[in-house]
Amino acid sequence: MWNAGKNAAKPAPLLIVGSVALDTVETPLGKQENCLGGSAVYASVAASFFAPVHLVGVVGRDFASDHIEFLRSRGIDLEGLQVADGETFRWSGFYDYDLNQAHTRRTELNVFEHFRPQLPEAYRGVPFVFLANIDPDLQLDVLAQVNDPRLVVCDTMNFWITGKPDRLREVLRRVDIVFMNDAEARQFCGTFSLLSAARQILELGPKAVIIKKGEHGALLFTPSGHFSAPSYLLEQVADPTGAGDSFAGGFIGYLAYTGDLSEPNLRKATVYGSVLASFDIEDFSLNRLRTLTPAEIAGRYAEFRQIAFFEAAE
Ligand code: AMP
Repeated sequence: MWNAGKNAAKPAPLLIVGSVALDTVETPLGKQENCLGGSAVYASVAASFFAPVHLVGVVGRDFASDHIEFLRSRGIDLEGLQVADGETFRWSGFYDYDLNQAHTRRTELNVFEHFRPQLPEAYRGVPFVFLANIDPDLQLDVLAQVNDPRLVVCDTMNFWITGKPDRLREVLRRVDIVFMNDAEARQFCGTFSLLSAARQILELGPKAVIIKKGEHGALLFTPSGHFSAPSYLLEQVADPTGAGDSFAGGFIGYLAYTGDLSEPNLRKATVYGSVLASFDIEDFSLNRLRTLTPAEIAGRYAEFRQIAFFEAAE
C-alpha cells in the first residue's frame, strides 16, 4: 500500500465492478495467450497501490487459482467475485503500430453473459465506487445496490455508445466522474471538439469528465476549466491492453487514499492515473504491475511534473 505519510487520513475502501478476463493479445512485440486481464482486474490492481479494494465480477471454473492468489496478494477482497459454471470471459485482440487502437478479434462472453452483479452486504456502504466498462444496465444495477457513496466514477466503450446510448446517458446522469477516450467522446457527442464534447457530458450531470488520449496524455474537465496531463514517452511499449483501466484504478485509488475531492487533488489524481497506465503498457498483461513498487510510482510522478513544467512569462 502507498506510504500514507504523517498527515494522510486512513485510505477509504473502494468498490470496483467490471470484467475479469483471459486475454489473448498480439502486438508488434509478441503474443500472449489466455493471460490475466479484464477491466476490473487492471483497475483493482492499479488501485490496490493506494487503498483497499473490493472487486465484483464473475469467473468460470477454468480460472486459475494462481490468478486468485495474485489478486489476494495485492490485498484485493474477492468476496464479490462469483464463480459460475462455464468458462471465463475471453477477449482476443491485436494492435498495429498505432497502439491507441485495439482491434478485437473475438469476444467470448461465456459466464459474463448471465452475470448479475451481487454486492455482498459489507460492500454496500463502500464510499468510493468505480463502474468499469460493462453493460450500462449492469452499472445501473450496481448503483441500485449501494448506499449513498461519496464518489462514483464510470468508464464505458464504443460498443455501449452505439448499442445502448440511452441507458448510458442514464448512467452518466447518476455518476460524479466519467472516463471516455477521445474517439468515444467525439462519437457520443457527435462533435470533433473535445471541449464541446466535455461540456455536453458535464451538462448531463457529472462534476468532472476525463478524456484519455492514449499515448498523448489525458484531459480533466470540470465546470471551472480544464487540466492537461502530459504524455510520458517510453523506450519500449509492449502491450497497451488495460491502460485505460489502470489509469482509472490509479485515479480513483489516489482519491480514496487522500479523501480529497478538490480540483487541485483531481489534477494530481489525473497524473497518478497516467503514471499507473504508463507502467501497465511496459509489459504484457499485468506483468509490470506485479513488480511495481510505491517508490517507482513516486519517481514517475516526479518525472511527470518535470515534463509539464514551464516558467512564467516575463
Ligand atoms: P482497456 O483498459 O480499454 O485496454 O481494457 C482492456 C480490458 O478490457 C481487457 O483486459 C479485456 O479483457 C477487457 N474487455 C474487452 N472487451 C470487453 C467488453 N466488451 N466488456 C468488458 N471488458 C472488455
